[in-house]
Amino acid sequence: MVKKVDHIGIAVANLDETLKLYEEVLGLECINTEVVEEQKVKVAFLPIGDTEVELLESTSPDGPIAKFIEKKGEGVQHIAFRVDNIEEALEEMRQKGMQLIDEKPRYGAGGAKIAFLHPKSTKGVLIELCERG
Ligand code: ZN
Repeated sequence: MVKKVDHIGIAVANLDETLKLYEEVLGLECINTEVVEEQKVKVAFLPIGDTEVELLESTSPDGPIAKFIEKKGEGVQHIAFRVDNIEEALEEMRQKGMQLIDEKPRYGAGGAKIAFLHPKSTKGVLIELCERG
C-alpha cells in the first residue's frame, strides 16, 4: 500500500543553523521553506534522490515539535510514507486495528494530504501517511 519514503521529518531547534549542516556539509539544497500555522512549525525542504529531508523548527514553545525536542532532543521525528489515496489508506489502517492520531487527513507542508498513525501501534515510530496531488 505504501509506495515510497516520501520524506523524513527531523526536529531541529534552529533551522538556519541546521541548514548550514545539511547544505554546506552534506551538500543538499533547500528548495523551499514554509510555515504551517496549524502545526506551529516552519519546514525546510531538501530533496535527496527521490525522497526528501524535511527540517522542522517550532514557531511556538507549545508546538508539537517544541514538545518533541523537550522530551527527546533534536532528531528524527517522523517518517512519511507515500500513498495513492489517503482516505482509503486510513480506512484500511482502521480496519487493521491501527490507532490513528488523525481520523481524517489534514493539510501538510508542500500541499500534501497527511495523517499520522499513533506510535503505540507502530512500534514507536511516528508514521505519517502522505498523498500528493
Ligand atoms: Zn511530514
